[in-house]
Amino acid sequence: MINFKPLFLILLFSFNVSVSFGQSKSKYERKIFFPDLDNYKTLLTDFHQHTVFSDGAVWPSIRVEEAIRDGLDAISLTEHLEYQPYAKDIPHPDRNRSYIVASQSAEGKNKNLEKKLIIINGQEITRSMPPGHINAIFIDDANKLLHIDDSLKGIKEANKQTAFLFWNHPAWPAQRSDGIAKLDEFHKYLIKNNLLHGIEVVNELYYSEEALQIALDNDLTIMGTSDVHGLIDWLFKVPDDNEIQDNYLPGHRPVTLVFSKDKTKKGIKDALFNGRTAVFYNELLIGKEEYINPLVKKSLTIDNISDLKLGYSEDGKSTIKKVRLKNISDAPFLLKNLNDYTFESNSDIINIEPNSTHTLSIKTSGKPFTELNFEVLNAIIGPKKYLKLNLPISK
Ligand SMILES: [Zn+2]
Ligand SMILES: [Zn+2]
Repeated sequence: MINFKPLFLILLFSFNVSVSFGQSKSKYERKIFFPDLDNYKTLLTDFHQHTVFSDGAVWPSIRVEEAIRDGLDAISLTEHLEYQPYAKDIPHPDRNRSYIVASQSAEGKNKNLEKKLIIINGQEITRSMPPGHINAIFIDDANKLLHIDDSLKGIKEANKQTAFLFWNHPAWPAQRSDGIAKLDEFHKYLIKNNLLHGIEVVNELYYSEEALQIALDNDLTIMGTSDVHGLIDWLFKVPDDNEIQDNYLPGHRPVTLVFSKDKTKKGIKDALFNGRTAVFYNELLIGKEEYINPLVKKSLTIDNISDLKLGYSEDGKSTIKKVRLKNISDAPFLLKNLNDYTFESNSDIINIEPNSTHTLSIKTSGKPFTELNFEVLNAIIGPKKYLKLNLPISK
């Protein structure tokens, strides 16, 4: 029996090669890619990371290098303001040092890069619950945020600096033993007074449906971050380019897609304050319908339509249509058929892999053929709510 195994593997392997035909980008490439929207650039960001300047294990230049490898547009190194376990080893009375070191590193590397990396000054205001941990990004001076005796003072100072503030890991079991994100009076006060602007729906390896509901109910910007302390590659199982294999999708860090008018700090800040984000986490896209819908429509398009040709019937005609779907993004799309038609080769659940094409053979039975409708089961627009995608058939 054991002799048949290699043959089976070879067959599997060649199948994988044949379905990946026609891609513009290899689905195994490390850099993350999503298309722009009509009016906005789609920028890739990770605004929650640590280095040795708080409790992380690496120097800021490593964070810069990781971000460049992942094809990111902007990052922030958000050191714990009140938790500095290596302060004796790496004394830094100026709490902006992590940002300054990263900025210098990025400046050097950007000279040789087509896609420049933007570094944004940030800190993690690290308190017990409530309010828990809150990231403040787009700050002017981290030193002024440090108020050991009073949680609210640092938050107010960050707001005075016109920073963007978001609530980190609101479902973290260390601060919410049931793993359920919920608002305390303190958070309600912050939201009511416009002192808190966003919430992490995804943090590191965790996704919280309750946090998503809080974001939607309170009009908070939806955020997803790595909160990395060690190495991105180890935490998210990202293979290096020379390790990439044909039989699995590379892991990736969670990123916040920011829909920005331009690639500037000002543009990103404006997008964050106006809630123009989505999260890419594992194989999920999570966000408000108004951004998830155009993002999926730009990513997944009808590439080609043709009639099934019959060489052996009387007139050679068939009511079966061949529709080629093209996915140019790094997210797969798990589609559920909402049409009256059935398919020739697929069940009513179809998985379109990242950066691939898939030809659907649709049995129209002569019914009007003007649009295709799917539920996208990995495009989440609310707790247990999935995007309904309409693809018009243009003649
Ligand atoms: Zn934290
Ligand atoms: Zn953190």
